[in-house]
Parts: sequence; structure tokens; C-alpha cells
Amino acid sequence: MMPTNLYRLRLFSASLLIAFLSTFSTTQAKRASHDSGSATTVVIDAGHGGYDRGGIPGQMVAEKEMTLDVAQRLKKTLAESGYRVVMTRDSDVFVPLGTRVAIANSYSNAIFVSIHFNSAKRSGAGGIETYFFNRESLPLASAIHYFVAGGAPSSNRSVRRRGYYVLRKTTVPAVLVECGFLTNPTEAAYAQTASYRQKLAEEIAAGVRGRNSVGGALTTTRVATGESIPLQPYIDQTKVAKSERHKSKRSHKKSARRKKKSSKPAGSEAEAASKNQEG
Ligand SMILES: [Zn+2]
Repeated sequence: MMPTNLYRLRLFSASLLIAFLSTFSTTQAKRASHDSGSATTVVIDAGHGGYDRGGIPGQMVAEKEMTLDVAQRLKKTLAESGYRVVMTRDSDVFVPLGTRVAIANSYSNAIFVSIHFNSAKRSGAGGIETYFFNRESLPLASAIHYFVAGGAPSSNRSVRRRGYYVLRKTTVPAVLVECGFLTNPTEAAYAQTASYRQKLAEEIAAGVRGRNSVGGALTTTRVATGESIPLQPYIDQTKVAKSERHKSKRSHKKSARRKKKSSKPAGSEAEAASKNQEG
């Protein structure tokens, strides 16, 4: 979750960083072109950091601390499996969303995994959600969600398609996983346990390893080795009605309702929504 009072500050920071980023991206891209071998680079994105604590005002457990710890555990697990791992942050610092995206996009053979925890005013809200935006990211989202939601004691809140900035702007398969609600006493207690954060990291890693074994219409004819992971159904929250194909009845009704309320075109509405929320 991204507190709205940080929005302006982020816009300001983003404009300051434009010049820096253009240089950064070029340099990174040159470097990446040299080592785009067989190894997949996993760009791990620990949500929030620095002055951006994450979550909602008054939240007891700092989201930024939980995301970093899971990210660091995931880094270790994936490195042990032979992946090259890049962290968008590896300490308690603020990294603008544009920089996170630029890092992911500088590796041609990368996948991007953003780690977050959820929050809500209602303490009873709980469960695991996994977000994607670009269609080529659905197998990765399916695999990660299959393992994380399957391995967690929390309820399954499904895979969701939504235009979060880091999912929309990345040019590589990108997923954002919400590893439970820190405003839910039960899930917050789990999250504060090292062994549980380790389990989360291992389940996410299992999803990364299994992303090419996801069955369903979007996969190629490649024969899956080992366990076949079912393509997960998802809830479409993009609110863009025209270009969608795989919509469920439920999400269709939702978009229709929202469209009536708003006078803005659907595209700019989705844009505004994703600008104001990081997940
Ligand atoms: Zn978050």
C-alpha cells in the first residue's frame, strides 16, 4: 500500500530522477547485452523502504521491514538454485518506482518479483494476492501464487490483473505478490516469525523455478518436466473493458459499474488508480 501523502513527493523525486535514469538505463542496457546468456536474472523488489514505511497510517508492523527480509531470504534461496539475483534495494532505503522499473528493464532475460504485504482498515481482511499486468506475466504470477497461496495458512484472494506502475512499466515478466495482511493480527503474527518469512521466500522461489511448467492456453507447446502447475484464474481489476478477453462475469460487472460512476475515460482512470497505489 502506498500512502497518498507520499504521492506528490514521489512525483517530485521522479522528475528529479529523469536525467539520471536515462543515463542509468543506457549504461545498464549496454552491460546487460553482454551477459544475456542462458541464466535468468531475477530482479527482486522489496516494496517500500526509507521514509516510505508501507501499509496504512498507524499500522503496527512496518511493511518495508517485512518485504526486505523476505526479499533477502528469496535472494539467498534463488542464488543457491543458480539464478543471478539483482535487488532493487538491499537495505532500508527509499528507491523510486521509476528506478525499480529501470533496473528490471536493463536485463533482457530478467523476471521481476515485487514483494509486498497488504493492509486494510478492517482487521479481519486477510489472504494472499498475486498481481500481474502484461499477459506474458500470467504464467509467472500463476506459479508464484500457486505455491505461496498453497503453502500459506492464509486464505486465497486469487491472482489479480492490475496496472500497478512497476507491473505496467516493466518490459520483462513482472509479478507483485502480497504476502498477507499486516493489519490482520493472525497474519501479522506469522509475518513477524522468521521461519514463516523463510517459508514465504521458499514458496516464491518454487514459483520462479516452476514458471515454465504452468499449463493452460498461454504456454507454448513445450513439454513440462516434473509437476505441471495449473494456470490460475484471475480477477481483472484494470477497469479497461474494451481490450479485455478473458474476463470473468464478476469483473465484467465491476468494470461496468465503475465506468458509470466515472466520467473519465477508462484508460486514464486505470492510469490514475495505478499511479496512486503501489500495492
Ligand atoms: Zn506495499
